[in-house]
Amino acid sequence: MIEKMGEMSGQAFNRSEKYKILEALHIKKYFPVKDALGRKLGAVKAVDDVSLSLYKGETYGLVGESGCGKSTLGRSLLRLFPLTEGEICLEGQSITNLSSKEIRPYRKKMQMIFQDPYTSLNPRKTAGDILEEILKIHGENNQSVRMEKCLEILEKVGLRPEHYYRFPHEFSGGQRQRVGIARALLVNPAFIICDEPVSALDVSIQAQIINLLKDLQAEKNLTYLFVSHNMSVVRYISDRVGVMYLGHLVEEADTDQLFLNPLHPYTKALLSAVPSIDKGMEKDRGRIHLTGDIPSPLNPPSGCVFHTRCPYAVERCAREAPENVKMGKGHFTACHLYDH
Ligand code: SF4
Repeated sequence: MIEKMGEMSGQAFNRSEKYKILEALHIKKYFPVKDALGRKLGAVKAVDDVSLSLYKGETYGLVGESGCGKSTLGRSLLRLFPLTEGEICLEGQSITNLSSKEIRPYRKKMQMIFQDPYTSLNPRKTAGDILEEILKIHGENNQSVRMEKCLEILEKVGLRPEHYYRFPHEFSGGQRQRVGIARALLVNPAFIICDEPVSALDVSIQAQIINLLKDLQAEKNLTYLFVSHNMSVVRYISDRVGVMYLGHLVEEADTDQLFLNPLHPYTKALLSAVPSIDKGMEKDRGRIHLTGDIPSPLNPPSGCVFHTRCPYAVERCAREAPENVKMGKGHFTACHLYDH
């Protein structure tokens, strides 16, 4: 039975359509490559036909090696650049072709927490100014109201009132990320993309930030798309997980299902590289060593894009791209091993 991941995931998780915050259908994002004379040489296929849905209050973990397209997919969902193809609906409204002016009212519903809080905060502004600016952009003209809201949100993320007056360089890495989280929360977004939010932090601080994100989610019923290459962190925080390889979503499942019963050969290889996450992992799962480098998205392999590194590849894999196959409740994979 061949079905689309994004279309089925809501049913699989018993979440009704009315709780669907975001739906992305057949998203493609290609970046043109030109020579010095401006002639088009080809296109980097960063995201190539990805569909997924996000439901109110869930955390969707998006994993894959660096360069697999997960951050580009996150930015595409926020409409930070135009799509090559596909459709994005936010709370039932298509935002695919809105102009920069038309999309402004939707911007506050879609926020992002960046990987490096230092480079994402203006070094010349205090935390208070950075936060107030967001409220100003979204129409709050009363300074005392703005300040009150900012102090309230600083407290929510574990900072003190005096932090309002501090510059980014006066914070520790973890505190800076708390300011980044405060900035994302300030306008009550419908969903937040967390793009590797802890990978630039010390290990000792990572757990604090992850727990803060979890606590805030529980309190405010927030929806996260959590982009990360760290499988352990993703397992801890996510309700569902999608695995990306070379611009394609190759597997999607409930978190426990994915970690206990990975199906796609690439997911198996990724998980085999994680040093025993817990006792629930298959004890006998040996390390799967993938040979070769990730192919260039400028010239991706024919058929299944993973066939150049897949230990199970057969002749058909180089010829024919696999479609998504439903393998169980909310569990989908795109691999010829399962589509007969
Ligand atoms: Fe491997 Fe073929 Fe499955 Fe692709 S379709 S993951 S090459 S077995």
